[in-house]
Amino acid sequence: MHAQAERAPTPPKQGLPMTDERTTTHRTAASQRPSSGTSQPGEGQVDPALRPRSLREMIGQERLRDKIQILVEAARQRGDALDHVLLYGPPGLGKTTLSHILAYEMGANLKVTAGPAIEKAGDLAAILTNLRKGDILFIDEIHRLGRAVEEILYPAMEDFSLNIVVGSGPGARNIQLSLPRFTVVGATTRLALMTSPLRARFGVVERFDFYEPAAIQEIVARAAQLLGTQVESAGAWAIAQRARGTPRVALRLLRRLRDYAQVRAQGVVSAAVAREALGLLEIDELGLDDLDRRVLDAIIVKFGGGPVGLETIAASISEEADTIMDVVEPYLLQLGFLDRTPRGRVATRPAYAHLSLPYPERAEQSGLFG
Ligand code: ADP
Repeated sequence: MHAQAERAPTPPKQGLPMTDERTTTHRTAASQRPSSGTSQPGEGQVDPALRPRSLREMIGQERLRDKIQILVEAARQRGDALDHVLLYGPPGLGKTTLSHILAYEMGANLKVTAGPAIEKAGDLAAILTNLRKGDILFIDEIHRLGRAVEEILYPAMEDFSLNIVVGSGPGARNIQLSLPRFTVVGATTRLALMTSPLRARFGVVERFDFYEPAAIQEIVARAAQLLGTQVESAGAWAIAQRARGTPRVALRLLRRLRDYAQVRAQGVVSAAVAREALGLLEIDELGLDDLDRRVLDAIIVKFGGGPVGLETIAASISEEADTIMDVVEPYLLQLGFLDRTPRGRVATRPAYAHLSLPYPERAEQSGLFG
């Protein structure tokens, strides 16, 4: 298994099962469990039942959960649709999951699409005209919407009106349609790439943080129970410490450890079994895998500790710059292993220490201030 292939955030979810090429509809009446139409590459084996269904089932992200709870209750009391919600943060933290939860909590239909799937303004117009009152439209990778498509979205989000041009040349006519009150839930790993007019259309903008190990441990324990796998609490803790604060990574590790325990340890994931299996997967005690180490190694060994540009790093290890930026860097930044400077990425002293490489005392000066 090659970890980086499994957790690559790109390409976008083009493999979505789509009802009309561009959207998937999920009906989330209280009696129905939302299905997972938004599996990421490598998530294929995840049982959709693992997705928490309601806010109450959602583990971690307490600050965010509290705010969402208030938002949902207020809208429900008023009998109103939710305000537009923009969720951002690294992949695998639960943005898609929260969109399902919002639909479930509001008893609303969820339509799922992604920025790259909406190529033309007409594609979006078709989606919008099919919406019903209260529907939630989830747009993943919303920063990848084209300009012409965004232009259609602005008035739709703000005034619930759709302005389209029919025909061309002198005979072209402007048609204005009114839309039912609906909610856009946008998700992005790159808030900075979103245009400010689009950002401004969202009443609620919330960031997903990495999860605390205790929350990940709980997520692992819950998933193990649902999967019928015996995981001791120390085993779940070992996974939690190496899951880089990311539920998707934790669930992936759980599946690998389940296989390992089945073959080598009578099916029980104890702390020792977890450590052995994680060692076999070459995931170190901080949760860094081969790709993380190659990135650090490139910065330190090939480029003298930096500063070095992202594209140069990517080219030097034959990886996608997007994967490095979305998946590798957020965690390395969080660990304090990397600095982003105007001149490029710089490896910090703890990064050298982690790779057991001597720290050149002058690197900091020439790197950061040189
Ligand atoms: P994103 O859209 O941010 O990339 P997803 O919503 O697809 O992330 O979540 C990735 C995986 O992690 C899913 O399988 C989901 O079930 C699981 N997950 C995410 N957040 C939680 C949570 N708070 N509790 C339990 N499982 C979660």
